[in-house]
Amino acid sequence: MTGRALSHVERVCCVCGSGDSDLLYEIRDPERLAGYMDGRVQPVSSGERIVRCRTCGLQYVNPIIVWPAGSRAHSLACDLDYFASTRPSRAIGNRHLLRLAQGLLGRRGRWLDVGAGDGLLASQAQAAGWEAVAIEVDGELVHALGLDRVQPPVQVCPLEDADLTPASFDVISLVNVLEHVDAPEEMVATCARLLRAGGLLIVHVPNVGSLGARRRGPRWRHYEPLSHFTYFDRHTLPLLLERHGLEPAASFSLPGHNRVKRMVLAIMDRRGLYWHDGLGYIARK
Ligand SMILES: [Zn+2]
Repeated sequence: MTGRALSHVERVCCVCGSGDSDLLYEIRDPERLAGYMDGRVQPVSSGERIVRCRTCGLQYVNPIIVWPAGSRAHSLACDLDYFASTRPSRAIGNRHLLRLAQGLLGRRGRWLDVGAGDGLLASQAQAAGWEAVAIEVDGELVHALGLDRVQPPVQVCPLEDADLTPASFDVISLVNVLEHVDAPEEMVATCARLLRAGGLLIVHVPNVGSLGARRRGPRWRHYEPLSHFTYFDRHTLPLLLERHGLEPAASFSLPGHNRVKRMVLAIMDRRGLYWHDGLGYIARK
């Protein structure tokens, strides 16, 4: 990754299409502008700009870094460690999602998990009686974990290249994916095409409107401009979904494995105090 030239590309707002924005922060923190290669932190940028759309308020990185083919923002070891250490709490969050989806749909059906990572959600969906399909763009990760040999196998390809039949899925999940892609609107549009009428799109992203984000400002932990390119909140995420014909039907958070913490966060959410850094919506086609 390092030593190779990184190019920058200008973006417009992926929610409303406006190119009008104001500079919010210029991130110059070396830790956030580095790649994590085999435990060594190496700076790859001297500054990144986070802007706010003047029309809809969306926050996004502009211009965006385009990584050379075959390079990674984080080392494989770093990503493997993330998936291993978060597996127990993700398993609890996934069970919550499976229950929510079945409740809203009234039955089980075909489930597509996009950005499947270690394939945990797809395997839990399959075990719970869904017909699950998993796709992941990171081939190095999939091969390191042998995910092409698990059930369901994780297919390596970008969503737009996947051989999937339009209007064939009852549920599509994008859990901590949209913030990483350079064109979230294209990903949501593709998901909308792949859903059956009445099908559900599940989206979970970091919440830039959370109390923590507002309190910490540019030091908020999810302002990672080399790998998190777009920052949604309770206003902009539903707007993006509605623009693609998806009607938000429920919101949710994935607070992890501590039961007391989950209860406290749920009470705060109900009172409009969005302390939690995560933001989830389920929208219906
Ligand atoms: Zn906008």
